[in-house]
Amino acid sequence: MNNKLLVLGTMAYDAIESPFGKTGKILGGCATYIGLAASQFKTNCGLVSVVGDDFEKEHTDLLRSKGVDLSGVQVIAGGKTFFWSGKYHNDLNTRTTLDTQLNVLTKFNPQVPEEFKDASIVLLGNLDPNLQGAVLDQMNGPELVIMDTMNFWIESYREKLDEVIGRIDVLSINDEEARQLTETHSLVEAAQKLQALGPRYVIIKKGEHGALLFCGKKIFCAPALPLEEVFDPTGAGDSFIGGFAGYLSQTKDLSFENMKTATIMGSAMASFTVQQFGTGSLEALTIAQLRQRIHAFKSLSEFEIELT
Ligand code: AMP
Repeated sequence: MNNKLLVLGTMAYDAIESPFGKTGKILGGCATYIGLAASQFKTNCGLVSVVGDDFEKEHTDLLRSKGVDLSGVQVIAGGKTFFWSGKYHNDLNTRTTLDTQLNVLTKFNPQVPEEFKDASIVLLGNLDPNLQGAVLDQMNGPELVIMDTMNFWIESYREKLDEVIGRIDVLSINDEEARQLTETHSLVEAAQKLQALGPRYVIIKKGEHGALLFCGKKIFCAPALPLEEVFDPTGAGDSFIGGFAGYLSQTKDLSFENMKTATIMGSAMASFTVQQFGTGSLEALTIAQLRQRIHAFKSLSEFEIELT
């Protein structure tokens, strides 16, 4: 197994409203969050994405400075970068998409760079399942394929989505979307139905209530850190899966036990993202802060009990 991690996803500009304020156009996109989170680990992470020529150099410089490979990012001359705008409600767990402008995404024909075709881990970020499938077709037998999706693609691309789900190992999805996909209320039952479609592992993210990792009958429950201040949940899911994949790539261990630790790494990463608007927290994150937070996670769910 090598430490290459190939990521497909959006690089975007977002405009966000939360009960704590409103941003202008800021850096976003699932590939951006994933790349920033994964780069906390010793992994060779390459993005496959598309931007317009309005995408700022400071943003490509930022990703490169973190060691993220951008040779698979296409720049479409005269095109506009993907734009998404969303509004969070008071509980911060629910949001409404105000605007999705696909822009250059409509012309995107993803090309995996030659040096990433043998990547051991592929992460298909939240995107058109046709593009997710096209990337998988270019890979030379990855050891682990992880996929994320959201309601936008579930609603309009169901058939293709099911086909791609049949080709992956790990599906990462939030609770609401898991229920929508399986038409089931119980998350345990939803996870079983999702596993029946193909993936050995299913991760169901529950926002401020943590995440569940399912593998057959085994279940691992990762807490979310109770935070005093949450400003903007955008990118939490992407940071989660970026941390999860980055850790697996670094440790080169795909056992269920190691996936449990990866789930905690992902949860820690997401806990940083929500503390500021946009990518700010991840940009500034240090290894020392990450270590400290992992300790906080450990003590949060550790307890002793004597069973007779
Ligand atoms: P998350 O909060 O983890 O679901 O991810 C939010 C990020 O996903 C934002 O930065 C958006 O730019 C990006 N995004 C929003 N809608 C879509 C979509 N339909 N396809 C791909 N990326 C999207």
